[in-house]
Amino acid sequence: MRHEDLIYAPSTEERRTKRLQAWETLIEAVRECRKCPLCNSRTQSVFGDGPIDTDLMFIGEAPGADEDAQGKPFVGRAGQLLNRILEAAGIARESIFITNVVKCRPPNNRVPAVEEMMRCDPYLQSQISLIQPKIIVCLGSTPVKWILKTTEGITNLRGRWFDWKGIKVIPMFHPSYLLRNPSSKIGSPKHLTWLDIQKVKEEWEKMRTRSPESDAGRN
Ligand code: SF4
Repeated sequence: MRHEDLIYAPSTEERRTKRLQAWETLIEAVRECRKCPLCNSRTQSVFGDGPIDTDLMFIGEAPGADEDAQGKPFVGRAGQLLNRILEAAGIARESIFITNVVKCRPPNNRVPAVEEMMRCDPYLQSQISLIQPKIIVCLGSTPVKWILKTTEGITNLRGRWFDWKGIKVIPMFHPSYLLRNPSSKIGSPKHLTWLDIQKVKEEWEKMRTRSPESDAGRN
């Protein structure tokens, strides 16, 4: 018997089972988490929503009041606008995974503190490493600053592709910003977001065409 034959190599099915088990463990950890003060004011934590087997992940800032009440991300007015943007671009919301930098609602919807984001970050990193997305869309300045470790503003960053650990990252305006800026004129935030989401769709389509069985290697 060769030496290599003695080395245990888990099958694809075993790796997939382990990955799903790790996912369930992560969901439970977020549900029970009390690692930062945001646990004191939340109704419930908001893990995220969508399939683990996806190439496309969206990351926002934090749950708001509706998300805190329902336990799901992007279900309030901003979420409904995001749904319309996705639908118009031909991206099914059920086919993407959506989450936030922090999983619990900050009081009065304030921006999460750095310490809170640091405490919550291992959950986001675990989500990314289990999903293995090819594209990450950062919604608004908080996730893009957190992920790319930049101080540059969202207005300069939006619509540009960045490489982060081999993943293509593109920042877009947060839909709540678009609610406050409803104009659709050329050059308006809404118009620019429309251009950005089409870039995302185009890149996502290209990736799917290049590797139609992209999920085959993810186990
Ligand atoms: S925000 Fe994150 S770290 Fe803080 S309690 Fe919620 S899940 Fe835990």
